[in-house]
Amino acid sequence: MPRRKRHRLVTKEPHVSVYKPAGIPTRELEEILITIGEFEALRLADFEGLSQRDASTAMEISQPTFNRVLSSARHKVASGLVQGYVLRIEGGEYRLSDGTGILECLDCGASVDMSSGNKSTCQKCGSIRLRWLRWEKGRRPGEK
Ligand SMILES: [Zn+2]
Repeated sequence: MPRRKRHRLVTKEPHVSVYKPAGIPTRELEEILITIGEFEALRLADFEGLSQRDASTAMEISQPTFNRVLSSARHKVASGLVQGYVLRIEGGEYRLSDGTGILECLDCGASVDMSSGNKSTCQKCGSIRLRWLRWEKGRRPGEK
């Protein structure tokens, strides 16, 4: 495999993964969004066993930022398991390190700006059911 320029945040291409409790219709379940960045932090620290210093270097973010992302990821996974939520791991254009990126609320349709600080709930209705609006080179998918 040719040597490639390191991605800014993650080592794998974005994809969608959903984990849900068995035997319950998805529509009856709450959903928690775990960003690709959070997933990567969890993978590096808790699966690969990297130190936070090495993991933050790998993701090219500061150690305090990595620590925050990892804490958020752990909290979301724990919340999901304890409360029986759907865990959606989803990314597209994700730039946690500079705070940009847009999420859409599945309940009220509001856009949630990732730079707002509160990245896991809708500012309008308080819902945690957020979905990435995928941006590709500044455009919404489907737009020409
Ligand atoms: Zn909302």
